[in-house]
Amino acid sequence: MVQKSTTVSYKDLTQIPLTHLKGVGPALQKKLANLNIHHPLDLLFHLPFRYQDRTHVTSIAGLQVGSDVVIEGHILGSAIVFGRRRSLLVKIQDQSGIATLRFFHFSGAQKNSLVEGRRIRCFGEVRWGRSGIELYHPEYKIIGEQDQFPSSKTLTPIYPSTDGLQQNRLRSIIEQALILLKQGAYLKDYFPAKLNQEFSTHSLKDALLYIHQPPKNAQLDKLEAGLHPTQQRLAFEELLAHYLCLRRLRENAQQDKAPPLNADTKLIPALLQNLPFKLTKAQQKVFSDVCKDLATNKPMLRLIQGDVGSGKTIVAILAALQTTGNGYQVAVMAPTEILAEQHFLNFSELLKNLDAEIAFLSGKVKGTKRAEALALIGNGQAHIVIGTHALFQEEVIFKRLGLMVIDEQHRFGVHQRLALREKGQNHGLSPHQLIMTATPIPRTLMMSAYADLDCSIIDELPPGRSPVNTVLIAENRRPQVIERIQDACASGRQAYWVCTLIEESEVLQCQAAEVTFAKLQQQLQHIEVGLIHGRMNAREKSEIMGRFKTGSIKLLVATTVIEVGVDVPNASLMIIENPERLGLAQLHQLRGRVGRGSEKSHCLLLYQSPLSELGKQRLEIMRGSNDGFYIAQKDLEIRGPGEVLGIRQTGLMEYKIANLSRDSHLLDNIKAWAENLREQHPANIDPLIERWLSVKQQYGNV
Ligand code: ADP
Ligand code: MG
Repeated sequence: MVQKSTTVSYKDLTQIPLTHLKGVGPALQKKLANLNIHHPLDLLFHLPFRYQDRTHVTSIAGLQVGSDVVIEGHILGSAIVFGRRRSLLVKIQDQSGIATLRFFHFSGAQKNSLVEGRRIRCFGEVRWGRSGIELYHPEYKIIGEQDQFPSSKTLTPIYPSTDGLQQNRLRSIIEQALILLKQGAYLKDYFPAKLNQEFSTHSLKDALLYIHQPPKNAQLDKLEAGLHPTQQRLAFEELLAHYLCLRRLRENAQQDKAPPLNADTKLIPALLQNLPFKLTKAQQKVFSDVCKDLATNKPMLRLIQGDVGSGKTIVAILAALQTTGNGYQVAVMAPTEILAEQHFLNFSELLKNLDAEIAFLSGKVKGTKRAEALALIGNGQAHIVIGTHALFQEEVIFKRLGLMVIDEQHRFGVHQRLALREKGQNHGLSPHQLIMTATPIPRTLMMSAYADLDCSIIDELPPGRSPVNTVLIAENRRPQVIERIQDACASGRQAYWVCTLIEESEVLQCQAAEVTFAKLQQQLQHIEVGLIHGRMNAREKSEIMGRFKTGSIKLLVATTVIEVGVDVPNASLMIIENPERLGLAQLHQLRGRVGRGSEKSHCLLLYQSPLSELGKQRLEIMRGSNDGFYIAQKDLEIRGPGEVLGIRQTGLMEYKIANLSRDSHLLDNIKAWAENLREQHPANIDPLIERWLSVKQQYGNV
């Protein structure tokens, strides 16, 4: 085994299989894969989150409860005791005193080895137990009389691990990777010397060695907070890689040619004339940005940010008309079935006199319907295609795709954007892209997560909206809430009742909604109650939505599927059950379903008491503000960026080391150093991106 590692020591650490390391077989390899560790280089970047000081032996008399210590002594004896829990107690003694080791799980062999007179070295946390000073389940080793304490000069790292992989084992594997590194294994440092100096380190190698094996006088608090310069160096490298990746995406996209789509002079004026409202100034400004982009022969890559209800859809419709007016097709993609259907209805309604052929495609469209839709898309008869992720599928082939609209972008990560871009490639032309999000994105995030996009903001709501009045109500005041619903419905208004669940499980969510639905039906006998959730089929859903829209259903019980896009202006009351379970951005989105008409609207947050301090703080923010931007900023402070964007799952913001709430100060310098690399070390850029984003692998996936 040892031989193996010396023969490979100078190789690229990504080229060595993990099974070359001592103690790693196929089973362990699988476990490591769960930790996203695929080769020794990954081991080096698997960083400790905590450290222990095992650099010296503490005398038993000097033990302090709560500290992690190494002790050495002789076993006085051991016994199994049957207290509340059967446990094995082992007494040990050094020159200064006696302590007890307590094991709740132990084997016979283990018990037999812990016999009187043997010398033992243990590591564990000191507790105050029934027999005085105790160590619960310490790591231990029987040692010889002559055995010297290996004077470890470094702190002991504790790594994030996975089921069935013990620290000891993981540590010994990572140590082997560190040995390879020390012996000179190839690890390219992509930073110029000066950038390393900014983080007070000589090189990537030094930084990694320090983080895995800090000297005993290291600043533990900084290290454990991730704020040591060596750690910050790595975080910076990762952020830089992400930024460079997005820039590269943008450059690649801009080398593509797009069909220039000239300003439309027929359809758009006709639509605007029939619109029951006038565009806001902000909508006009944003559409003029879009209009200009479309007219060029480079693909537009524009993000529209606008708070819930700011009227993004109409901008998308205008862009669509400019596209169809030039003889190209439009794809409109929404993150959920229900939102896609909603768009389908909206587009159909607004475009009904303009001869636009609109097709719908989602995973649930099957059989002949599907074949029909695919044919219309393929032969170009469908001018506008609205759907879900299903639009990604290989079998969907557009005749002349000119524009893709992606609504509620926060659910689509960078890799989906990539796939879309490729999807649209047609006769050497790339489609334009318009991305719309209701989640306001703080500037720092914008720069890191969306560096590939131009951005326009709709910073104004349509006139005549009054802010939603938000109230917090404890669950035990439910009867009052029922009364509010009765009142609202009696005066011709409509209401939403939103059920939330902690579990991700859609099944459970739907079950919960069904239970609530039944209960409310009983409590509100004279009111027509409807139920909508994600497990209904498309027809059922659109039937229910239709009846809610026309007002025959007065109270709509829903899961969070209505989060985005649903638009019923007459609904002026919303009850959100267990709002403490949701993120602020999501709550804000939900709340945005009311307050769309001229009627004063209310949102009741029906929380489970007692609320945690944090929970209280968060709901107070909701009560205090209707400003999505402010709320997002607060959410960012409280929960970190992945959650704010709601994109944790998509992998877009999944940093291995960097943490935007902690490291946002690093972003200020990213641009300048990216520029420096592009000018002075252009060859470093691709490998740097690959190291951190495994882009190759990901490209393959989408
Ligand atoms: P969002 O930005 O959340 O997607 P929508 O596009 O769904 O918002 O618009 C919300 C509602 O506001 C819709 O009913 C839409 O018809 C209406 N609306 C959009 N623009 C205006 C406007 N300029 N004046 C009045 N109502 C508008
Ligand atoms: Mg919308």
